[in-house]
Amino acid sequence: MTTAPPSVPRTALDTVARVHRVAKHYGAGDATVHALRGVDLAVRRGELVAIMGPSGSGKSTLMHLLAGLDSPTSGEVWLGDREIGGLDDTALTLLRRERVGFVFQAFNLVPTLDVMANVLLPFELGGARPTREERAFIGRLLGELGLADRLAHRPRELSGGQQQRVAIARALASRPQLVVADEPTGNLDSRTGREVLAILAAAAAGHGQAIAMVTHDPIAAAYADRIVFLADGRVVAEEGRMDAERIARFMLTLEGDR
Ligand code: ADP
Ligand code: MG
Repeated sequence: MTTAPPSVPRTALDTVARVHRVAKHYGAGDATVHALRGVDLAVRRGELVAIMGPSGSGKSTLMHLLAGLDSPTSGEVWLGDREIGGLDDTALTLLRRERVGFVFQAFNLVPTLDVMANVLLPFELGGARPTREERAFIGRLLGELGLADRLAHRPRELSGGQQQRVAIARALASRPQLVVADEPTGNLDSRTGREVLAILAAAAAGHGQAIAMVTHDPIAAAYADRIVFLADGRVVAEEGRMDAERIARFMLTLEGDR
């Protein structure tokens, strides 16, 4: 833990991303969908936050906003000390590239590129070659993720768990402050999913990165420092660490309310 100067509230210093009273509507008139109806959430340095809730409760929408991939209908989205509402597309793209990594359910690897090229892709897109120091970091990361002997393989030559570990390496490679993961284990069997998740949590904690992760799996959520429950576009509960059984019971009550 860092010690903040007394005049600066520590929470403000430690916040890597924050949404403030965000609402997101899709469509118009009678067909309007209220995906989010006024949500507050702050993600602090080094913490793993799980987002849970029934299907359609707004989890993916919230992740997209938090990552600066989409803009809210109303409210504010902050990445570090920057409110993204005032940024043009170019500025937002640069800020996102610098501060956010993504892991999706569908892995989203480029099939024609090998493992190393997939991991280096964000650097390629940013037009910046990784420095020697960054390359060394990426090498260590790939080792930690058990991919050191797979660098020249294409995605289709890898198992699902390995592919998701490549996606995690890609998300962590530039050492963003925030990693956003939307059901990262959704396409994996539960055992592989838990392995991948343990790796994600350890990698992020080891490198001080914050993770916001959507999951349906109570055992996955039990890894989290904090669990935020959404229902119908609102935060209905926020808890510290919970064991898997309590999480599962809580999810059932949420789904029962619908
Ligand atoms: P979750 O990830 O919790 O399942 P989502 O954030 O994907 O929920 O969706 C929340 C609500 O917003 C749902 O009713 C969904 O159908 C709707 N929605 C999401 N994205 C769009 C979109 N691009 N256009 C219209 N409606 C959308
Ligand atoms: Mg979703």
